Amino acid sequence: MSDVKTEAEQYVAQLHEGLTQPRDHECLACYVERMVTEFGCDNKLRWARRWRGMCAPRAVALERRLEDRGGFCDCEVLYNVYPERLPEDAHTPLLPCAGVGRRGSTKPCAKPLPPRCDW
Ligand SMILES: [Zn+2]
Ligand SMILES: [Zn+2]
Repeated sequence: MSDVKTEAEQYVAQLHEGLTQPRDHECLACYVERMVTEFGCDNKLRWARRWRGMCAPRAVALERRLEDRGGFCDCEVLYNVYPERLPEDAHTPLLPCAGVGRRGSTKPCAKPLPPRCDW
């Protein structure tokens, strides 16, 4: 029955591969936000690296630039590099990425943020 197990494993691997695929024109910030929300942070720049490999392979200095701004792991990228993008309320649903115009750009998109509640 080892074949069945292998097939199932391959299926899961493919599924995971699809789920962690950056969407078309999805920017780095939205991708990392989406992945950390769904799969968590492993204390490394796992998702930022994956995004760069697939969307901006020539942005070789990306990790160093994120680290310079305090992003030593994926969740720190969200908190330290793009703090203005975080909703006040952790339960606010994520908005889809507004998209980056140019493929390979490491700039975050201009996604509208959830409304802030000011007293
Ligand atoms: Zn982290
Ligand atoms: Zn975005």
